[in-house]
This record gives sequence, structure tokens and C-alpha cells, in this order.
Amino acid sequence: MSSIQIKTDVILIGAGVMSATLGSILKELAPAWEIKVFEKLAGAGEESSNEWNNAGTGHAALCELNYTSEKSDGSIDISKAVSINEQFQLSRQFWSYLVKSSVIPNPQEFIMPIPHMSMVQGEKDVNFLKKRFKALSKNPLFQGMEFSEDPDKLKEWIPLIMEDRTSNEPIAATKIDSGTDVNFGALTRILFDHLKSKNVEVNYKHSVKDIKRTDDGLWKVKVHDIDSGKTEYHTARFVFIGGGGGSLPLLQKTGIPESKHIGGFPVSGLFMVCNNPEVVARHHAKVYGKAKLGAPPMSVPHLDTRYIGNKKALLFGPFAGFSPKFLKTGSNLDLILSVKPDNLLTMLAAGVKEMALTKYLIQQVMLSNEQRMEELREFIPTAKSEDWSIVVAGQRVQVIKDTATGRGTLQFGTEVVTAADGSVAALLGASPGASTAVNVMLEVMERCFPQHMKQWEPKIKEMIPSYGVSLTENPELFHEIHTATAQALGLSEKKTVFS
Ligand SMILES: Cc1cc2nc3c(=O)[nH]c(=O)nc-3n(C[C@H](O)[C@H](O)[C@H](O)COP(=O)(O)OP(=O)(O)OC[C@H]3O[C@@H](n4cnc5c(N)ncnc54)[C@H](O)[C@@H]3O)c2cc1C
Repeated sequence: MSSIQIKTDVILIGAGVMSATLGSILKELAPAWEIKVFEKLAGAGEESSNEWNNAGTGHAALCELNYTSEKSDGSIDISKAVSINEQFQLSRQFWSYLVKSSVIPNPQEFIMPIPHMSMVQGEKDVNFLKKRFKALSKNPLFQGMEFSEDPDKLKEWIPLIMEDRTSNEPIAATKIDSGTDVNFGALTRILFDHLKSKNVEVNYKHSVKDIKRTDDGLWKVKVHDIDSGKTEYHTARFVFIGGGGGSLPLLQKTGIPESKHIGGFPVSGLFMVCNNPEVVARHHAKVYGKAKLGAPPMSVPHLDTRYIGNKKALLFGPFAGFSPKFLKTGSNLDLILSVKPDNLLTMLAAGVKEMALTKYLIQQVMLSNEQRMEELREFIPTAKSEDWSIVVAGQRVQVIKDTATGRGTLQFGTEVVTAADGSVAALLGASPGASTAVNVMLEVMERCFPQHMKQWEPKIKEMIPSYGVSLTENPELFHEIHTATAQALGLSEKKTVFS
């Protein structure tokens, strides 16, 4: 066992899409900064960012019903949907910049156009969808969305879902063709290859064990080299904790006041994947339904056309579940070890408040494969058990914190936690997730490098022309940017490169 002390400007912990995005932006803005990455697994994008571990939806709120809520007066609140769409536009612009600079040679390796649809049944939900459609249609970001409750139209849009549907309940759907399927695993790998070519030192099979502040205000990171068994110490001016589910324990190790009174609750996921190419070929959309009563927002069922490994695939889910692990490759002790004296009351309060969620997760864990097939048949009435198998998805660690609404409140969004002096930042939470990585990493930079932002702004605007500008309020700029990014990312014409 040896101890080496090495100094650098920036350390990125974890080789997921978040570190990949932050590293790629920083390399453009401050090319001289020395960046090191430590990832405990053997490659990039192996945890939540991996294509089999998430749903690959380019979340722009085009189809996710949980981003639009019905207010008490019956009107629809679209503010969250608008904000998420604006954030996705930032990702599209940064990815387009990377395509134009030849960092991403072929965008179809990670992004494909696919219609995004919402589908509901029953009079109450049909009315909700109609009102949602009307509210969104007034906003330029959602132009091109169509609504239909005509069974013939729906048969045209979603033949597999409409086939042999016996229920007399009203059914309706919205469809918008500008949706995307994003292979975040492929994107992460492309970005890490790029970072390596820019002299970023990417260390796989290196697990970060501790992070402590030094007397001179730097951060000392203790790293275990898994192959050699050696322990190394690296110091940096700035550390980004992009450990996905593994971020909370690392943040706790920093001891910063901002890390206190925060807990994490892991929710696991399963997808059903179709093995019958004839069935796969008959569906072409991401179709999101409505979450069941008591179900958390991330378990909204959806039937998704995906592009994975140069092939078209069909996945249904996610089914939620419980595992005490914070990462798919984590330990059964993760949850219990994350309980500290400072977050004990927060965690206990959440335990009491979230009994309905606990009950829901237990029910989900207990589901048999045939019961999961029954849920799938609500989407595809003709689904046959032999055509479908199960894949285990990634872990999502939902943040628990004390908020104005009370102690121990479960959060479903993403949380950026930074030290007061901006020397360390951690990303917690999982939704809307990878789709909004660019916006989240810009937030990290604004909070951690305020002294550089003015100097960096022209370059940021070159990469992301709408940075700091509301596209909703500038429809012409939106149209220009949307058209340009669709062209750069190969989304404007339907591709037939995959079978
Ligand atoms: C079931 C599911 C469905 C989802 N669907 C979507 C979707 O449709 N669209 C979307 O945009 N987002 C989706 N997400 C969210 C998205 O996957 C995540 O937000 C995103 O991948 C997180 O990226 P990350 O870089 O933070 O974490 P990760 O990709 O998990 O990367 C973290 C990395 O850190 C490493 N690490 C952890 N601890 C240490 C340590 N101590 N030392 C060294 N390395 C460490 C891990 O090994 C891992 O490689 C989904 C997530 C799940 C689980």
C-alpha cells in the first residue's frame, strides 16, 4: 500500500453523464485547467447513465403527464413543463455544438427522433388531457402537438396499443413528432473519449473513499486503485461529486454544513423488454400513461420505442421496487450507513410521512411476472408473456430534506448542493435527469465559478445561443434554434438506419 499526493485543478468523481457534461463544458471554457476523473467501475456510463438502466427519454415535457398538474380551479399549470422543455433546449444546443466541432461525429449514435405521446383512458383523464393539450398548444415550445380521441386516428398512431381493445371507456392521446430517444450511455462514452483526447486523466477502477478539506483550502481526495490495491491522495481546487446514487455518502464525507440534514431513499426499477421483432416493428413512439393512485411520479408507465446497440427495441415500465443499494453495483448497507446523527430525524420523519410510498413499493416488489404482464396489457391488450422478459434498471436515490412544508420531505427532482465557497459541488436526485444535464452543470458553474462567468459568457453563448434567454418569450429565436439543432442532430428527417 502506498500513498502518493498529486495536485490538480479539478477532480470529477464518477464517469456518468453529469461528469461527462461538466468536464466537456469546462474543457471548452478553461482548456488549460487540469482535470482528473475517478470512476470505480471499469468504464464510463455503466450506472444510471447506461442505456439499459434508464428510459432514454429526452425529457422535454412533451408527453410526461406528471409535469403538468391540474389546479383547484380546474386549469392546468404548465410552468414545470415549460421549464423542463427550456432546459432540454440547452442540451440540444450543446450537443449540436459538439457535432459541429466534430466531437460527436455521428449524432445518430446517441439521439434519434421518435414521436412522444401521452395516452389516457376514462372520461376524467380524457378531459384532463384535452385541457393540457389546449394549455400547452398556446406555448411556442409545444407547437406541432396533436390531440385525438378518434379511435381511427389512434389506430393510425398506435396500432399495437389499439389492436383488440375491448374496453368501452373513452380513450385519447396527444402526439408530437419532435420527441427524441437519447442513448445516454453512448453519449457518456463519446464524451469521455473526447475528454481523454484533451488530456483529461480518466482513471477507471478507482474508487473514492474520502474527501477532506486541507489547511490551505483545497480538497484532499482519498482514492483506492482497485487493481493495484494502492491508496492515492489527490488534491484539487474544485471537486465535483457526480457519483449518481453514490453522491450522498461522498457529500457527507466532506463535512460541509450544506451536507447536513439530507437523506436519500433508493428506488429501484425494472423494465420489460420485448424479444419478438415483429411486435417491436409494430410500434413507433414513446407513449406515457398516468401514474396509478399513490404511485411516485417516476413510476409513470410508458411503452417506449428505443434505439439500443444499433437496433430498434421496445421496453415497458418502469416497475418500481425497493433495494437498500444506492447504486445498482452498490452495497446492501448503503441506506443504513447514510443515516447520520444530523439526518436521523429527517429520515425518521420521512419514514412516517411516506407510508403510502413504502406500501406502494412493497406491492411493486411482490408483483409476479404475470401481474406485470397484466399491467402491460393495459397498453398492449394482445401482449404475450413469451415475447417479454425483465431487465433490471438503475437505482434512483430520491433526496429527503427538511423544507418549508415540513421535516423529512421526499423530493423527486434534482438537487445541486455546493459549499459556500464553491469549492465542492454534488448532484443528488434523479429527475428529470440526464436530459437536463447541461442546465444542471451550468447551474453548478454559476454557483461555483461566479468570478469566471462574465469572461466565459461569450463562449457559453457560442455553444448555447439561448443561454440566459427565455425561448417561450422569444418564439422566433426558439424556431431558429429548434430548426438548427434538429438539423445538426439529424432529427429533421426520419432515418431508416435501424431495423
Ligand atoms: C429507471 C430509470 C429511468 C430513467 N429514465 C430517464 C430518462 O428517460 N431520461 C432522462 O433524462 N433520465 C432518466 N433517468 C435519470 C438518469 O439516468 C440520471 O439522471 C443520470 O444518468 C445520472 O447521471 P450521473 O452521472 O449523475 O450518475 P451515474 O450515471 O449513475 O454515474 C455515477 C458514476 O459514479 C460512480 N461512482 C459512484 N460512487 C463512486 C465512488 N465512491 N468512487 C468512484 N466512482 C463512483 C458510479 O460507478 C457511476 O459510474 C432515469 C434513471 C433511472 C434509474
